[in-house]
Amino acid sequence: MVICSRCKSNEAITRIAYAKMNLCIECFKKFYVNKLKKTIEEYHMINGEDIVAVAVSGGKDSVALLHALRNAYPKLEVKAIHINLGIEGYSKHSQEKVEELAKQLDVELHIVDIRKEIGISIDDFKKTKFKGKMCSVCGTVKRHIMDEAAMNIGANTLATGHNMDDFMTFMVKNFITRQWNQLVKLKPVVPPLMSGMPKKIRPLIKFPAEENMLYCYYTKIPVNEVECPHSKGAKTLEVMKILNELFKDEPNMKYQVLGSFLNLISLLEDAMKEEGVIPCRKCGFPSKDGLCSYCKRIELVKSISK
Ligand code: SF4
Ligand code: ZN
Repeated sequence: MVICSRCKSNEAITRIAYAKMNLCIECFKKFYVNKLKKTIEEYHMINGEDIVAVAVSGGKDSVALLHALRNAYPKLEVKAIHINLGIEGYSKHSQEKVEELAKQLDVELHIVDIRKEIGISIDDFKKTKFKGKMCSVCGTVKRHIMDEAAMNIGANTLATGHNMDDFMTFMVKNFITRQWNQLVKLKPVVPPLMSGMPKKIRPLIKFPAEENMLYCYYTKIPVNEVECPHSKGAKTLEVMKILNELFKDEPNMKYQVLGSFLNLISLLEDAMKEEGVIPCRKCGFPSKDGLCSYCKRIELVKSISK
């Protein structure tokens, strides 16, 4: 039996390779919440006055974030936002899990059902030119609605559950495809693009997917285990698989590469002049040419559904 390196009494259930520790269930849960606090403090993500909206999809990362944030800062004003994307065989189950969790944690939950609010569902994009890029269009819709919902409930900070593997994948993907504008947005804290919008924070930037999964498992919190039908064959999943294979025997290297990328991003950001943004004529959100990407996509899907 392997003994926990922290309490020296219980049986260890996991090895945190980069920290060279074996941890039991209770010590792992404490380690996770402490790591979250340290990350938030390192990047000055939150101050005592903030009202934090957490975007909760129902997947392991976002539910772990909401649960651990509640534990780490019991006095912080935290609200949850869930978007029902209208995805057949997936969205209903996600919403049920989020409702269960919010109830358990006694957190105020705001649900935006896009079929009711906008009259479309993510599935509708299958009929458009975005049919091969469902996750990309879904991301644009979610980002817009999350910002809007956070503003509507008076939150000045929006926390999302992007984990370390998501970060690495997006970084590599944007690097290969030379999407420098997208690459510079991959930061732990993104200030608001326009006044009144929330700042965005990514408190799980240093958490590999397995740690979030373990936290959900050992805290027994409700998680949506149903896979989204549009995730099959997504390019990001392929990149993620390759990266996981690459770092399989060298867990420390993941942190080193993440650190190098973050340095590169700040250099790149200094070198690039921030492109000017103007308000979208439909929704008022930032846009490059007077109509934001979200409104362009919604117009398109509505014109096809008519
Ligand atoms: Fe949206 Fe893609 Fe996630 Fe499905 S897998 S919810 S389409 S981002
Ligand atoms: Zn717009």
